Amino acid sequence: MGDKRDKDAEADAKFYDELKYNDEALAKRWKDATGGTLSKIITEKALDDIVFPIVSAKEGITGKQGKALSMLFRSKLSKQARADLQAWARITYKNDLFFKSSARALVKAEDLKLFNAALGMGNVSKINFTSPKTHLEYTPDLYGAIKQLVKARKIDVFAVDAGLLSSLGGHYRSDINRLILYEGFAPDMAMMHAVHESTHAIQDWRNLSCDENNFIEADAYIAGAVAALSVNKNFVGLEYEKALENAANLVMDGQATRMSKDWSKAYDGVLKAVNADPTYSGLVGTRYDGSDQEKSKDEEAALKDASLYFQTKQLLRGRRPR
Ligand SMILES: [Zn+2]
Repeated sequence: MGDKRDKDAEADAKFYDELKYNDEALAKRWKDATGGTLSKIITEKALDDIVFPIVSAKEGITGKQGKALSMLFRSKLSKQARADLQAWARITYKNDLFFKSSARALVKAEDLKLFNAALGMGNVSKINFTSPKTHLEYTPDLYGAIKQLVKARKIDVFAVDAGLLSSLGGHYRSDINRLILYEGFAPDMAMMHAVHESTHAIQDWRNLSCDENNFIEADAYIAGAVAALSVNKNFVGLEYEKALENAANLVMDGQATRMSKDWSKAYDGVLKAVNADPTYSGLVGTRYDGSDQEKSKDEEAALKDASLYFQTKQLLRGRRPR
């Protein structure tokens, strides 16, 4: 029967094969650096040698390569190497490397099915809150408006394969009105991500400016959580579980109002979790400016139009929007 050494060798071989399947050259560099054993600690220097050819690729990298990078988190990394790998992962996204290689524009109704369902009434009807920090009021009709803006191609939606690297769900860029949904998530997770990114689109199109970037994140996480929990109250996969559950439940109970102390407290709990998250901790104290574009006045007007259009449609269907 296999002793520990056999088992380790088996795990090493399995890891290598999987790595090789995702990126052969990277697998070879990993083998050179570690002797092919998972127990060998990878230093920051060794990590650079392994990942640099990928993270510096100008023409873009594939989802499989993203998967290979994320596999490295399973190996033994020095503290600095782990921090570096997280930073490299952020850089691949920031430099649009996955986008360059696999972006697929979602234009046809068929392609936008999940996105439109995510912003449909079944999902967003309970999103009704005023943010204590950005002071924006989020309502279901705004999500309907974003749907219309996408349909009118004023916001471009893309699906991109990043191999689930760092589990990033999506991204919205206000300067070019681009909304990305990263692929590979279960449908309920993907819908939550769509609501989160659409919340950023609302903030942009409302020309929001606020003191802290993380305020917009807290708002977006709460909106996403409300959508996810509206559909399935046992939903698993909230980023900041307890904090988001608290806040989302108040929203769903109609208690997320300007004057409510409980709501402010619950909101602060979410904000605290966002600030402590390594993804956002670097943004503490930085301003958000969604009105950074010359066309910002048009944006606000277009959002109102789309919102109006949506309300009209709702009325025509005999449902009264709130
Ligand atoms: Zn966000």
